[in-house]
Amino acid sequence: MRIPIIDLSRQHAAIASELRGAIDRVFGHSHFILGQEVVEFEKAVAAKCGVEYAVGVASGSDAILLALHALGIGRGDEVILPTFTFFSTASSVTRLGAMPIFCDINSGDYNIDVADAASKITARTRAIIAVHLYGQMADMAALRELTLEHGLWLVEDAAQAIGAHYDGVGACACGDVGCLSFFPTKNLGGVGDGGMVVTDNDEIAESVALLRAHGANPKYFHRIVGYNSRLDALQAAVLNVKLAHLEDWSRQRQAHAREYDRRLDGVGDIRVPTRALAADHIFHQYTIATAKRDALRGHLSAAGIGSEIYYPRALHLQECFHEFGGRVGDCPRAERACEQVLSLPIFPEMMADEQSRIIDTIIQFYR
Ligand SMILES: *Cc1c(COP(=O)(O)O)cnc(C)c1O
Repeated sequence: MRIPIIDLSRQHAAIASELRGAIDRVFGHSHFILGQEVVEFEKAVAAKCGVEYAVGVASGSDAILLALHALGIGRGDEVILPTFTFFSTASSVTRLGAMPIFCDINSGDYNIDVADAASKITARTRAIIAVHLYGQMADMAALRELTLEHGLWLVEDAAQAIGAHYDGVGACACGDVGCLSFFPTKNLGGVGDGGMVVTDNDEIAESVALLRAHGANPKYFHRIVGYNSRLDALQAAVLNVKLAHLEDWSRQRQAHAREYDRRLDGVGDIRVPTRALAADHIFHQYTIATAKRDALRGHLSAAGIGSEIYYPRALHLQECFHEFGGRVGDCPRAERACEQVLSLPIFPEMMADEQSRIIDTIIQFYR
């Protein structure tokens, strides 16, 4: 019996007829780009996040890019972000000609170290991007205070955290603008790429809406040079169906996380995920840390159990960011995480017997 890191076919089988109906309706009207399904989905996500505006775009990466563009970030500007995140948190900054300033993370929750961020603020700093890694929100109270004090934008990369909360406030409702991804393996995933920018700021929302359609308003009259970055009706139709299930799925993920905690805490040198006090973790990933990571991963793989490393190399050490002068040792906690983290299967439909086999296999490794 193989156990993959994620099995989307189970999720789709459980809601197949709902999905089929939604997809058939889109073929019925054949309005494939933006359209009614997208408007509906934007309203539903805005309500879910507790904000006023949501603008669907082509991917989570584009959500970050268009959000930063809408904030006016460009050449000469510095943007502070954690070095331990997915690539596009940083590439969105460099694509606009701005400079990424890489910060270290906390060793507990793997999110941005606010003290390190504070120490890196200069006269050129325009924004801080908080990434809510693995489904747990960064320290938003401290980041909000810091960004207000220095007059900086606070951007949330919530690609892994739709439905997570911090002190009762939802992801994307704490900063000035939030960015979501609907990549198929995210907690709310489409059947292709998709993303969304959510905000309470009407100017940011209008600007992103202009940017996603070539900067034209009305059509063929271009006020600025924008992008082709729109959400498809088919994605929105599927996502509308799935959104209704998201809370149940998050609860299932949390139940799996509790079971992993219960049986893995104290095994070998394993560190189970830390829960920050104010954050309600929705476990996009269940990520352990161990000095024996590569051997453990090999042992799991030999037993037919999938696992993943998010992420094996910090961004300040990526070849393509060489020009920014990052060195080994700049962000020691992030660099250690790259060597030690391992994400285990935690998809909602994972069965109890599968999870106990995963746990037994891990315990056996440490015997
Ligand atoms: C997935 C992800 C993105 C990018 O989203 P895409 O939809 O794949 O472009 C950005 N940031 C983080 C933290 C992510 O996990």
